[in-house]
Amino acid sequence: MVTVEKFFHRVTITSAIPYVNGVKHLGNIVGSILPADIFHRFLDIFGVDNIFICGTDEHGTAVELAALEEGLTPERYAEKYYGIQKEIYKKWGFDFTFFGRSSSQNNHQITQELFLSSLENGYIKEDTIIVPFCKHDKRFLPDRYIIGTCPVCGYDSARGDQCEKCSTILDPEQLQNPRCNVCKRQEIEFRKEKHLFLNLPLLEGKLKKWIDKQDQWPDNTRNLALGWLKTGLKPRCITRNLKWGVKVPLKGYEHLIFYVWMDAPIAYISMTKDAYDNGIIKDWKSYWKDSRIYQFMGKDNIPFHSIVFPAILLSALLEILPVFDTSGKQGQQLRLERLPEPHKQRADRELRQFVLSCDVFHRKELWRQGSRTATGRARKKPPVEPGKDNKQG
Ligand SMILES: [Zn+2]
Ligand SMILES: [Zn+2]
Repeated sequence: MVTVEKFFHRVTITSAIPYVNGVKHLGNIVGSILPADIFHRFLDIFGVDNIFICGTDEHGTAVELAALEEGLTPERYAEKYYGIQKEIYKKWGFDFTFFGRSSSQNNHQITQELFLSSLENGYIKEDTIIVPFCKHDKRFLPDRYIIGTCPVCGYDSARGDQCEKCSTILDPEQLQNPRCNVCKRQEIEFRKEKHLFLNLPLLEGKLKKWIDKQDQWPDNTRNLALGWLKTGLKPRCITRNLKWGVKVPLKGYEHLIFYVWMDAPIAYISMTKDAYDNGIIKDWKSYWKDSRIYQFMGKDNIPFHSIVFPAILLSALLEILPVFDTSGKQGQQLRLERLPEPHKQRADRELRQFVLSCDVFHRKELWRQGSRTATGRARKKPPVEPGKDNKQG
């Protein structure tokens, strides 16, 4: 008889790592961290060997821009907000095995190693691209440093790397009416620069074969991923003219760093190693080489988790691909239909009971306390309603 424990012989759970900038809103938690936390506790009830990995996404233009606004270096800024976020999640009682940082030494090292494997396997190509440059600020403007109108949906504040409204992955020169996100001016010049690309067209066959096998994915994830494959993938630029990030370990490219979407998903792996280095788990490789990997995320993270991250791993010839994925509306349901009957019913029942036993309202209160600490300003006490005492405060 197959039992839940045997069905899930080892499980690795990740929830999308939140950007370190600012303090997260409730949707961020409900969309990915909470369902991942529930799943992790559910597996714990059954005694399944599992880990729950999350942390902060600390590189990239979003963080550089936010640090600039607060007058801090990106290092100081990331450190400050990592502390704040970690404290909030602690107050919420999330049961992370490890809550790490994408700026860790392990992540720098593993990202560089994976890149060198991809390069050796022939999946990295160089090309000259046009990079926007702000004549006023005298700096290159990758990704979020440049904004403009989305060529697909017409949203007027689409970023240079992705439209937040329709999730389309973009290149800066595709934006209409581009403007600098630092000085808001339209004094933009497009300059030629040599950059490195992940050669996605070479990986299309492997990706399709792998995605076809993921019949447990929610329909919207599968359809989105297969849709992109159908339109044909283009080589994806993985380097940026920035200083804050993982350095490119290749001669002639040392002045560049990796695009944040290269090192952010790899951080799931390096945070597992961090957990091991901190003595929290006994082994770390088995959670990626011999484990079912379940990734929880919001809708706009689908392209990178279903195409880019698997492509990086495939290009490095690593057979450690996520087997489960959750997104959008369906993200709040845990899909257990692959469990054999009658365990499906038992699992379903246990899970429901577990969700019910979570003191959600108490958690909301903790969240409010956390937010108050994090933003440094106390919320106004609600006015006391007539006929009610004000002792609750
Ligand atoms: Zn759009
Ligand atoms: Zn500017």
